[in-house]
Amino acid sequence: MEFPWWLWIAVGIPVLIVSGIAKLYLFIAIGLAFIIIGISKLVYEFILAPRKVEQQAKAVEHRRRNVRYCPRCHVTLKPGVSACQVCGMKLH
Ligand SMILES: [Zn+2]
Repeated sequence: MEFPWWLWIAVGIPVLIVSGIAKLYLFIAIGLAFIIIGISKLVYEFILAPRKVEQQAKAVEHRRRNVRYCPRCHVTLKPGVSACQVCGMKLH
């Protein structure tokens, strides 16, 4: 199971504060690492992931545009056909 970005930060901040007070340098480093992981996940989720979704939407749109319809009976034509498979109308 993967932890969401806010959980890394929510764990990292108290670890950082408590270890800062107690001067436990190893735990300060762990707390900082958790916060850095949380921030990088946050950046990925809000900057990189939406871009991927946008690209997928564009690919679907592109595929949809390549679909042809018969001008006479408006059925969806199979790719590469030279005549409508329903009414037999010749296509250019
Ligand atoms: Zn047709």
